[in-house]
Amino acid sequence: MAAASYSRPLAVYRRPPVWAAFLGVVPQGGAAGPEDALGALADEVPAAASVAPAWLRQRHGADALRATGPGPAGDGDALIVSESGLAATVFVADCVPVLIAAGDSVAAVHAGWRGLASGVLASAVHGLNGGSFSAGASVEAWIGPAIGPCCYEVGEDVAVQVEARSGPEVVTRRSGRKPHLDLPLAASRQLAGLGVARVSTVDRCVRCSPDWWSYRRDGARAGRNYGFIWR
Ligand SMILES: [Zn+2]
Repeated sequence: MAAASYSRPLAVYRRPPVWAAFLGVVPQGGAAGPEDALGALADEVPAAASVAPAWLRQRHGADALRATGPGPAGDGDALIVSESGLAATVFVADCVPVLIAAGDSVAAVHAGWRGLASGVLASAVHGLNGGSFSAGASVEAWIGPAIGPCCYEVGEDVAVQVEARSGPEVVTRRSGRKPHLDLPLAASRQLAGLGVARVSTVDRCVRCSPDWWSYRRDGARAGRNYGFIWR
C-alpha cells in the first residue's frame, strides 16, 4: 500500500514487465469511465499514459472473456489480456477487484459475493495463458480495496454460498447477529487453492475509508474504485 505518497487513493505494484494499480476515482460531472480513470492514474504513474483500457459490462457472474483491443469487450466479470499496451480494467464500489499476472497474460476480475460463490476466479485463472495456466511462482495476484468483514453483514444464505468455495474462516458468526463475510479473504483463499503462489491484499475496508468508494456507505452517489493491470 503506497497511498501516502500519492495525491489520490492509490496502490501501485511493479513486477516487470507488469504494472498493477488500484485507484479510487472521483466522478467528474456525474461519471468517470475507464478512460477518465486511466487518465487520472497517468497523472501519478506516467507509464499508464501509453496504454489503453479494455473492460467488461460486469454482471456479477463467472464468465471470463478475452480482449484484443481497447473499449468494451462484452459481458462478463473476468477480463483476460495478452497484448502489451492494453490494460485489463475492473471497477467496483464494495466488491473485490482482483488483478492477476501469469506469463504473457494478465487478468482483471470483478469478484463480489456472487462471483466468488460461482467461481469467477477459477474462470480467470483457467483462462490465463490461453487456457494453459500452470501453477507456479511466476503467477501473482493482487487483491484491491473492498468492503471488509467489519462492515459486510450478510444473510446466512449468502454466507454459506461463499463459505462453500472458500473455507469456514471467511465467515464470522456471533449469536444474535447476522454473519459477517470477509470477501478479500475469500478471494485470497480461492486463489491459493487455484495454485496462485503469491497473493497480496491491500488491507483497506472501503466502507471504513472515506477516500475509497463504498456502495454501502455512499449509495447511488458512489464513484468507482478501479483496478488496472497491463504489461
Ligand atoms: Zn469496515
